[in-house]
Amino acid sequence: KAKNSGRNHWIFFHRDMEEKIVQRREMEHALREAIQEDQLRLVYQTRYDLLTARISAVEALVRWQHPRLGLLMPDQFIPLAEETGLISALSDWVLFNACRDIARYRPEMAVSVNISATELQDGALPERIARVLQLSGLPSQRLEIEVTESALLSDPEKTLAVMQAVKALGVKFLIDDFGTGYASLCYLRAFPFDGIKIDRSFISPLTESQQARQVVENMIGLGKAYALSVTAEGVETPMQMSQLQDLACDAIQGYYIGRPLPLPQISTTAPVSEA
Ligand code: C2E
Ligand code: MG
Ligand code: MG
Ligand code: MG
Repeated sequence: KAKNSGRNHWIFFHRDMEEKIVQRREMEHALREAIQEDQLRLVYQTRYDLLTARISAVEALVRWQHPRLGLLMPDQFIPLAEETGLISALSDWVLFNACRDIARYRPEMAVSVNISATELQDGALPERIARVLQLSGLPSQRLEIEVTESALLSDPEKTLAVMQAVKALGVKFLIDDFGTGYASLCYLRAFPFDGIKIDRSFISPLTESQQARQVVENMIGLGKAYALSVTAEGVETPMQMSQLQDLACDAIQGYYIGRPLPLPQISTTAPVSEA
């Protein structure tokens, strides 16, 4: 009996695997179509500059309006795009649409776009970005590229060369989710970054413990020491905002400032810090 159920188990496992492979292939096909047939959407989250008290930039965040499955979030398809090589087509779509939208409708703002780690080793990236800037008409000074620390680990020389070529266009680089990766602090100096975005896991406990406050204070100090702009991510309360103001953080982003929304709906006014 035991043997039999073992075999059944294996058969089920096998079927399950087969089903997953088929599903994956279908998703890959669907994603390819989505990029070509305009099923991707962009929402924008505002970034508030604490010094000028203005919304200085927006971050473009991609969504997939799937015909059957509804609205999909990036964690439901970005990994697939990365594994199947569709990521550069997806990024080109995001880059072009974000740059064009902001050039047209928000001439006073910068826009930041997330790109995947592997793309920083793509020798064609500088050319791709140059083309997008040209086609969209966005001045290069208003484009920022967000990458996570993991982008820096695999081929440092190649990565540096690609980054330098993109920087030569006038585009800026930000380290996303700062503090969560494995990259050591010396990467701050080795690569030409313009700013860091402190991960929201450091911001959420900010007003709860002295230790959390100390950590964020040190991160801000570190950024300043390297002449980097410092943005705090995931700011959800006015308390967090006013603490970050006290710590001389440069900019904040999060649900308290604004949720990611289609461009026409983003608020261009920011909340006041103390009630
Ligand atoms: P990220 O770049 O760190 O983006 C911030 C994520 O945190 C967004 O989730 C945003 O909706 C969420 N968020 C913002 N403020 C708050 C807050 O106050 N509280 C909480 N709890 N969450 C907040 P989203 O849109 O699901 O994006 C997740 C990740 O997907 C992004 O993280 C980014 O790494 C990736 N991603 C998004 N768009 C693209 C893209 O076009 N290309 C690539 N390669 N990756 C993308
Ligand atoms: Mg980001
Ligand atoms: Mg982030
Ligand atoms: Mg993230």
